[in-house]
Amino acid sequence: MESSSEDVVPVGGGGVVEGPEGGAPGEVAVGSGAVISEALSSEAVVSQAVGSGAVGPVAVAPASLSPSRAGDFMQCPLLYRFRVIDRLPEKPSPAATRGTLVHAVLERLFDAPAAERTAPRAKSLIPGQWDRLRESRPEVVELFADDPEGERLAGWLAEAERLVERWFTLEDPTRLEPAERELFVETELESGLRLRGIIDRVDVAPTGEVRIVDYKTGKAPRPEYAEGALFQMKFYALVVWRLKNVVPRRLQLVYLGSGDVLTYDPVLADLERVERKLLALWEAIREATRTGEWRPRPTKLCGWCDHQAHCPEFGGTPPPYPLAVASSAPEPVRAAESEGGAQGRMGPG
Ligand code: SF4
Repeated sequence: MESSSEDVVPVGGGGVVEGPEGGAPGEVAVGSGAVISEALSSEAVVSQAVGSGAVGPVAVAPASLSPSRAGDFMQCPLLYRFRVIDRLPEKPSPAATRGTLVHAVLERLFDAPAAERTAPRAKSLIPGQWDRLRESRPEVVELFADDPEGERLAGWLAEAERLVERWFTLEDPTRLEPAERELFVETELESGLRLRGIIDRVDVAPTGEVRIVDYKTGKAPRPEYAEGALFQMKFYALVVWRLKNVVPRRLQLVYLGSGDVLTYDPVLADLERVERKLLALWEAIREATRTGEWRPRPTKLCGWCDHQAHCPEFGGTPPPYPLAVASSAPEPVRAAESEGGAQGRMGPG
């Protein structure tokens, strides 16, 4: 990852949040195009039944963990099951789809020479990237199926323009030369747990310091929720550390919805803490996978959940559990439960 970058300026050690309001959960949670792609694929190893007349995916146990799916399990274990094991379809949302579009624009802008990375140039990329998105994910077209005059689409695209424009008030792409964009990373811990994800941008300073950057199209969280927002970034930092043996110098969340930047300079102890957390989380997921017990955890975020029709909290019934179940828990899993790793409340910290 050789390249110059905007200087990675050292500041303190703590996170800095400048946004007065937390964003709408749907917006904040799905800021990354990468994350959206992940949501549509599965972290379970899934094979297609062939030769038997059977169609559709065959679910098997989850095999890896990403920040998004870890977040799902911490939010609601049943939601994790629906997404990763049952792979229930989800409707595209305007906010998530706009997040994908804006991410694509910011990524592609760096194809241009530095001096040409202007706001007008970035905005001019929007129509083409929208066309590409519709080609690659035809289901997004249904977002505007009831909009024959194109008024809602025009407003939606105008908001995408505003988000792109705001980015230029937060970062200067003419001074950036990312080492990586939309970087897929994956590593396996000694326990066998595979961690994976897609990092929006990696900058490497001439001195070798690494900065991990993630764009969010929502608003910055309130300071008391900053730890949750940073969980994803520490997850990536852990993976980078494991892959490159380098602790990233800075983690940076760029909130285009509110015009805020949240930064955190991690130390090794942060990454070790996240690793312990993920191992406990993974044990809890394995236990739920084995027993088939996936508890719903209703919160105000249920309002953004596509699966209320299958959720007992809303009078629904989950589909038949597609995996074999066992009745008793092995000792190592119970040990993880006693650390708070099972389906009790799990915070990101
Ligand atoms: S509606 Fe709420 S409780 Fe039910 S699965 Fe979705 S997030 Fe979980």
